[in-house]
Amino acid sequence: MKLKQDFFTELPGFYSQVYPQGLSNPHWLAWSDDAAQLIGLTKPTDELLLGLSGNAAVEGASYYAQVYSGHQFGGYTPRLGDGRSIILGEALGPNGAWDVALKGGGPTPYSRHGDGRAVMRSAVREFLVSEALHHLHIPTTRALAVIGSDTPVWRESEETGAITVRLARSHIRFGHFEYFCHSERGQADKLTQLLNFTICQHYPHLSCDLAGYKAWFLQVVKDTAQMIAHWQAVGFAHGVMNTDNMSILGDSFDFGPFAFLDTFQEDFICNHSDPEGRYAFGQQPGIGLWNLQRLAQALTPIIPSDDLIAALNQYQGALVQPYLKLMRAKLGLPERVSPTPDQDQQDLELIGQFTVLMEKNQLDYTQTWRRFGKLDPSAKHSSLRDDFIDIAAFDSWYQAYQSRLGQVADIERWQTERNQINPKYILRNYLAQEAIVAVEEGNLAPLERLQLVLRNPFDEQVEHEDLAKRPPDWGQGLIMSCSS
Ligand code: AMP
Ligand code: MG
Repeated sequence: MKLKQDFFTELPGFYSQVYPQGLSNPHWLAWSDDAAQLIGLTKPTDELLLGLSGNAAVEGASYYAQVYSGHQFGGYTPRLGDGRSIILGEALGPNGAWDVALKGGGPTPYSRHGDGRAVMRSAVREFLVSEALHHLHIPTTRALAVIGSDTPVWRESEETGAITVRLARSHIRFGHFEYFCHSERGQADKLTQLLNFTICQHYPHLSCDLAGYKAWFLQVVKDTAQMIAHWQAVGFAHGVMNTDNMSILGDSFDFGPFAFLDTFQEDFICNHSDPEGRYAFGQQPGIGLWNLQRLAQALTPIIPSDDLIAALNQYQGALVQPYLKLMRAKLGLPERVSPTPDQDQQDLELIGQFTVLMEKNQLDYTQTWRRFGKLDPSAKHSSLRDDFIDIAAFDSWYQAYQSRLGQVADIERWQTERNQINPKYILRNYLAQEAIVAVEEGNLAPLERLQLVLRNPFDEQVEHEDLAKRPPDWGQGLIMSCSS
């Protein structure tokens, strides 16, 4: 692994240097060949195991925890920072550099009352979801590996510590800008320094002047909107959309109590610490805007408010357009050449009516979409019909759908295309849970199988059909806690 140290050398004062505390008896629990390729690695070696478990120095690593703040559940926390994640530097790969971070590597100056550790179950979940989202073509940070250990970690009971080796194009969060706005009240120096660094590293086509800053912020608005459009289309609830968990690059980031929807439910809450549903599935688009508004506020010392507001005003369109594109593809509706606002509105209504029907009939979100891959859209009665208890309501929706769809020239091709957008396999919470229980019992096979299947979520993979099933009773509506 070849590391460079741009953040570390160019931004002193934006982090604390801190060394990981080694896990005892480290062993590989998971490894992603796909993620390894990104940074030019091939296989999990003993040397890497020692280095990435914090038991030996990694050549070229600087070891630091970044400082940032953030709005958590709506309230501002002036200083957060990496409480349990230590960055080694930026690893060079064939297509760019990736921050390498040891999540769960031990305490840092930002740990507050925490122990700096991650437990195995949360490390495995972060690993699985990072790779699953990637293979669903959703922008996300990646995970190279999970390292398990004998190190005891106390949560509600004694568990074991683990490290997720996270790869991120950047670890810069909305919260970084909030910290350097508020901590440096009245001085824009550090904020500007951070912004210039971000632009140089990740937006090389933009200039480090006001014109560049304005274009940059608009890009952040668009990237965030695009990410959330993907979440809403695939049925993914992040669970903790605090501004410190929002990547400036619009990558899905910092996973905790996330969930993919099983039964479709607009107000689904996956986070035990969120009884009021601030981060419920259907709230995500609005929270994305709220978070961007906090980022905009932090940027007011260097970008005029009018320009920030103008960019924020583009958020809704920047979310709705990719969302419409994804949902039209899921339904197999032809893209309109240059749709009028009325036509967009009609399509949104058609989509909304369908998800309402799914919710009323308690249908599985993923399975229902997948059935479009077997649908003959020219048939008078749809093969989906029998899934709906309120058949009359379905029939009336289906009629509207058919008239919008028009004639499909090549039905087989149309069906194949539906299967390329509607996944068969998603990381259902109960599947993650089953894999975790097996790991606790020393059996890595279910985790490896799940990882393998989620690499090709759009393929039939008939021998793994059972992993496409709805959850059993115990696995329905699992709500995870933040404390992991
Ligand atoms: P999260 O909700 O996981 O994004 O965490 C919010 C903040 O709490 C971040 O600053 C984390 O670094 C910190 N944190 C979470 N868990 C721990 C832990 N076990 N030890 C220290 N800090 C933690
Ligand atoms: Mg976080």
